[in-house]
Amino acid sequence: MTARYVIDPPPQATLAIAGSDQLFPVRRIWCVGRNYIEHIREMGNDEREPPFFFAKPADAVVPDGGVVPYPPLTKDMHHEVEMVVALEAGGRNIKAAKALDLVWGYGVGIDLTRRDLQIASRKIQRPWEIGKAFDASAPCGALKPAAEIGHPSKGRITLACNGTLRQDGDLDQMIWKVPEIIEKLSEMVALEAGDIIMTGTPAGVAATVAGDKLDCAVEGVGTLTVTIGKPLA
Ligand code: MN
Repeated sequence: MTARYVIDPPPQATLAIAGSDQLFPVRRIWCVGRNYIEHIREMGNDEREPPFFFAKPADAVVPDGGVVPYPPLTKDMHHEVEMVVALEAGGRNIKAAKALDLVWGYGVGIDLTRRDLQIASRKIQRPWEIGKAFDASAPCGALKPAAEIGHPSKGRITLACNGTLRQDGDLDQMIWKVPEIIEKLSEMVALEAGDIIMTGTPAGVAATVAGDKLDCAVEGVGTLTVTIGKPLA
């Protein structure tokens, strides 16, 4: 421990890199709300609304093969499979035409959501953190570099629960594409290397419970499997 710190600095949150023992250090996790039309319809929300953003703590990441303890205070935790964008550079007021220059690579993630708490917060106009930003709420599989796979703008995105397909969409259904997401977000906050963005979920979100095995895939990007575990004692 460096004498400068009064406590040990917390560990750096990281993501795995496919086929490598190198790591991607996570600075911030941003998430896009309502980015696939069928999911907006299933939630009964306004289809004309522009996208908006919320965040999760960096240390909410869970690696491929990990166990997510069923979180407290909810009876309705939902899975939302999403493509994850990992940035190698940042900036403010990035134009969409330049935005992909900031992207290191892509992965498959799940925006786990305590839906009952999210909806309760929304009803009384309180923030979403308790519904969205809880411990282990951001499983994310190994990243693949854009240098290898390019910048996927179409391809199947799926989540199966215990072998049954629940979410089945295509990246080309995203209302706001990755360059536009980066443009919009960089107007609101400065982006930096290490930031990751969860890009929204297709339809089929549903409750997941202890014992469930969630298998996710994004065509051309990779896979992610996590298990939902018992609540922490
Ligand atoms: Mn989401």
